[in-house]
This record gives sequence, structure tokens and C-alpha cells, in this order.
Amino acid sequence: MPRCYLCSKLISVEERPLRRRVRIGEVEKKKYGAERARFVQSQYGMRVVCKSCAAFQDHRAKQKELLELHLFMTAIVVVGLLSLIVWIL
Ligand SMILES: [Zn+2]
Repeated sequence: MPRCYLCSKLISVEERPLRRRVRIGEVEKKKYGAERARFVQSQYGMRVVCKSCAAFQDHRAKQKELLELHLFMTAIVVVGLLSLIVWIL
């Protein structure tokens, strides 16, 4: 029986195994040169998750999408208002 990668709950055989892109780890990269630079990069991969974790992941992805859309709309409104002000003056 597979286990959920996120909450390690056992996933029953009848349940359709769901796969989602989840964070599987981090890689620390070091660069030696003129200045010492160190940065951490997240790694993502497809892993089997349970129904509730998949729903949570989907919810989070949707929220991120909505936030991006909101920022985009705000930018358009700001640009529109600015061009309106320029047009009036
Ligand atoms: Zn889970």
C-alpha cells in the first residue's frame, strides 16, 4: 500500500493514487569566487499523496493563481488610471 508523501497516511488500494508536485528537498549551492555566495534551491518532484493532501495542494495552487491574477488586475487598473490622468492633464 502506498503512503502519502506529505502526511505518511496509508492510501488504500481502492483509492485512485493521486500524484502532485511537492517539495522534496533543498540543495545548497556554494559558489567560490571573488565573493562567497551561498544559496538554497528547492527541489520539486511528483510524489503520491492522499486525497486530503492533494486537495490542500490544489487549493494552495488556486490561491496562488488568484493572487497573481489579482496583482495583474491591480497593475492594469493602476496603468489605466495613470494614462487617464495623463490624458486629462
Ligand atoms: Zn496526505
